[in-house]
Amino acid sequence: MDFEFGEKEEKLRREIRNFVKEELPPGYFSLVAEEESSDEEWEFAMSIAKKLAKRGWLTMAWPKEYGGQGASIWEQAVYGEEVGYWGIPGTSMGVSGVGWVGPSLILFGGEEQRRKYLPLIASGEPDGVWCTAYSEPNAGSDFANIQTRAVREGDEYIINGQKTWTSAAHRARWCWLAAKTDPDAAKKHRGISLFIMDMKSPGITVRPILGYSGVHIINEEFFDNVRVPASNLVGEENKGWYLLMQSLAFERASFGVGLYGSNRRILDEIIKYAKETQCRGKPLSCNPLVRHKLADRAIEVETLKLISYQTLWKTSQGIVPVYEPSRDKAYGDLVMERLAITGTEILGAYSQVPSPSKWAKLRGCVERLYSFAPAMKILSGTDEIERCVIGQFGLGLPKSY
Ligand SMILES: Cc1cc2nc3c(=O)[nH]c(=O)nc-3n(C[C@H](O)[C@H](O)[C@H](O)COP(=O)(O)OP(=O)(O)OC[C@H]3O[C@@H](n4cnc5c(N)ncnc54)[C@H](O)[C@@H]3O)c2cc1C
Repeated sequence: MDFEFGEKEEKLRREIRNFVKEELPPGYFSLVAEEESSDEEWEFAMSIAKKLAKRGWLTMAWPKEYGGQGASIWEQAVYGEEVGYWGIPGTSMGVSGVGWVGPSLILFGGEEQRRKYLPLIASGEPDGVWCTAYSEPNAGSDFANIQTRAVREGDEYIINGQKTWTSAAHRARWCWLAAKTDPDAAKKHRGISLFIMDMKSPGITVRPILGYSGVHIINEEFFDNVRVPASNLVGEENKGWYLLMQSLAFERASFGVGLYGSNRRILDEIIKYAKETQCRGKPLSCNPLVRHKLADRAIEVETLKLISYQTLWKTSQGIVPVYEPSRDKAYGDLVMERLAITGTEILGAYSQVPSPSKWAKLRGCVERLYSFAPAMKILSGTDEIERCVIGQFGLGLPKSY
């Protein structure tokens, strides 16, 4: 089995590494979604997104007519891996347009919608930033239970309701919204539709939900008679469920090799720290306990790479992965959690100090990882739900109750 990439992919890898050297401060590393927190980090992330867009990398997988490069799956894999490894900002959740809105529009959006929204996303400009509003106070894993209503009135829909846990709603120009159009449908998933909502519309209130250490990534939104043009309905009314399931599959798959890349980088950083840090006159890395833990993490990180490659390989063979994105995401979450614990054990009290304190080690990445790992196991479908998918579609078990 040969896991080497071809010359085209390796050339791209070199170009991305040069880009990192030229555009990011030395030793730069940001963890997932960090960039959405402070205004300064957001501005920086957006400036990088524009540069990535200029090189055609931001949406390289898309067809050329919509602002892409028609890149191969393996070129995308290299890009995803490098983005994850170097923590290149401007590429993660705030630009969810790249990860799942764009691919969904390419697959099932109307031609007018494609022509309007895809070039905006591909531009890397703030007008191409999206948020995704599915979850509500009583609808998370039980997605079909959403209560936000969309009622048709002439050539508009009137939206009322509440969404919660929406990443980047405070940054987004557009919202990928799931709403109920037929509350009396015999089965609740049959009365759901998918909309594109302009976040500048009157009647939208966005409130922050602050995470650990005051980090602001997620929000709740209230919709009070928000008017959405009927042309912003994606697909057919009441048939949004099937589109949303596809969009969720894109979302889970978008973590893929990127999660391997970021975990690999953190492992490399911790290994370097263990080699450079002295304990009782010897490097920490001489301690058998430290070495065993690092070896365990290395096995896991490499396993994550291999299963992620397998999913990509299947896609390259025309096989649509069904349970694999759930498997890769659930395993990636586990690897991240274990790395966070190992990093905390090795850094000791320094692991508690966040960036930009002068006492923070490794740019505070272990502290950040430790506080974000539990959230990773929830967003985009909880680990339990991912395991339900693996059980049903990977192992042929009956549907769970
Ligand atoms: C950082 C972060 C960012 C997020 N961003 C977004 C976003 O941008 N847009 C958005 O719409 N949502 C977002 N979410 C919300 C996320 O999708 C939901 O939190 C998630 O789907 C779980 O829903 P819930 O919180 O309502 O928990 P619940 O569904 O109430 O689940 C509670 C617990 O019960 C378990 N459980 C539920 N049903 C089952 C079952 N059938 N079998 C086994 N176990 C089950 C769950 O696994 C979980 O442990 C985000 C969440 C986080 C943490």
